[in-house]
Order: sequence, then structure tokens, then C-alpha cells
Amino acid sequence: MDLTGKTAIITGAASGIGAAAALRLAKAGAEICINDLTEKRLSALELVERINESGARAFFQAADVTKENEVAELMDAALSRWGKIDILVNNAGVSGAGISFDNIGPDEFGEMLNTNLTSQFLTAKAALKAMSGRQYGRIIMISSVGGISSIIRCNAHYAAAKGGIVALTRRFARDFGPLGVTVNCVAPGLILDTGFNENMPDETVAGYVSQIPLGRPGKTDDVAGLIAFLSSDEAGWITGQVIAVDGGAAC
Ligand code: NAD
Repeated sequence: MDLTGKTAIITGAASGIGAAAALRLAKAGAEICINDLTEKRLSALELVERINESGARAFFQAADVTKENEVAELMDAALSRWGKIDILVNNAGVSGAGISFDNIGPDEFGEMLNTNLTSQFLTAKAALKAMSGRQYGRIIMISSVGGISSIIRCNAHYAAAKGGIVALTRRFARDFGPLGVTVNCVAPGLILDTGFNENMPDETVAGYVSQIPLGRPGKTDDVAGLIAFLSSDEAGWITGQVIAVDGGAAC
């Protein structure tokens, strides 16, 4: 896949799947805007340095993607540097693990929707302005197997937010298609080398893996390859699709 000359914003890219996607897209030739929260600045800057040393180009723009004004600043920063935005990877999210069902009240539920779902609405809406009518626009929404199936255990508020991303993807695909923008959704299964799962006990991992036909947990690179494909010219006639990268767990 060749992404030479393309520009990509990846939200929540200081670690995990977002960081792997940044490296993969940069390797394919794209210029990258690494977005994450201010507190992730150090790891984000290390990633920027790694990409720039490889001969590709990247910069960091801190923004909390739940805040409309910060999303606008993120888009402005990319536009003033590049003059265009070709690709948006809507990856930022929180896991919602570590809270029991009884302790999820309206505040916790609303906060989860805000971080994992409303943020993707805000960034896609803002990026659309820069993409529409240009003949090239790719929006990749990161959901979860938890949003399309109950096979992997996750909290109800997380599942609801991730399921909402699937609905948003299909709505956006229909609405944005005539503007030349594709919108697809990637639903990862258990990916171990990320901030979400770094402290997962071995017996929990073994329980999940027993549900996976391909017999192993996923790696961030398993997801990054699909994100790169959906960002490319080759995926130009694919939109509104939800693709699980889960070793077959939800099949
Ligand atoms: P991660 O914790 O390594 O990365 C998530 C990043 O999002 C973090 O760097 C975090 O700082 C950032 N972030 C959180 N809130 C933000 C905000 N408001 N604004 C900007 N950045 C914010 O975890 P990950 O596993 O790489 O998760 C990436 C995406 O993949 C998430 O959307 C997650 O739901 C999804 N996912 C992960 C798994 C998995 O097993 N790891 C499975 C399914 C889906």
C-alpha cells in the first residue's frame, strides 16, 4: 500500500493500536498527526521522533477529543501544516474495565459515551469539512468486538458506546459517500500490547484465548494493517463496513 502524499490524523495515538497505526501509515508514506491527551505528551513525542528518524514526517497535537473546541484546534493545526486532511483514524478511547455493573450509574454511562462515542462524532464531523468534495477522504472508526458481539466480556456502557460506533459508521457512510468520503469501522478483539490490557491476569487471557479460533491474542500490528488498507486507494469502493480483527472470536 502506498500512502505517499497522504495526510492522516490518528486520535489517541500515543500508545497501543493508535501508535501502531501511526507507524504503519508513516511506513506507507503518509504524514501523520499524532493526537492524544496532554498527559501523553512524552510518549507521543517519542513516537514523533521515531517516525521522523525513519524519514517519514509526523507531529504531535494535544487535544481532548471529547471537547469540540479542542477538536477544532486539532483540525486547524493539521490544515495549517498540510492544507488538507485525507485520513482520520478515530481511535481514542477508554476501556471502562475495573468498575462493577452495580457501580455504573448515569454519570459513568454518560462519560463512557462521551469519550468513546461522542468524540468520534465530533472528529468525523470536523474532518468532513476538510475532506468533502476533494475526491479523497477516509474515516476509520475504531469500535470493538464488544460492540458487535457478547463473546468477549466487557462492561455494558463500553459495549453500548462501541455498538453506537457501528451505527454511526453506517449512517456516516451513507451521508458522506456522495461527498467522496468513505467511512469504515474496525472492531478489534483482544489486543494485548496496549494500555487497555497491560495488566490483564494470565488466567483471564487464557479464558479469552480459549474463545478464539486462531488460538492467540491479537497484536496491535494485526489491527494496524487493516487500518492502512482502509486508508488506501485500494479500499476506494469500500464504505459502511464493519470488519472484526479478532482471530475469529465473533464469527
Ligand atoms: P490505549 O490505552 O493504549 O490507547 C488509547 C489512547 O486513547 C490512550 O493513549 C489515551 O490517552 C487516548 N485517549 C483517551 N481518551 C482520550 C481523549 N478524550 N482524547 C484524546 N485521546 C484520548 O488502548 P488501545 O487498546 O490501543 O485502544 C485504542 C482503541 O482500540 C480504543 O478505541 C479501544 O476501545 C479499541 N479497542 C481496543 C481493544 C484491545 O483489546 N486493546 C479491543 C477492542 C477495541
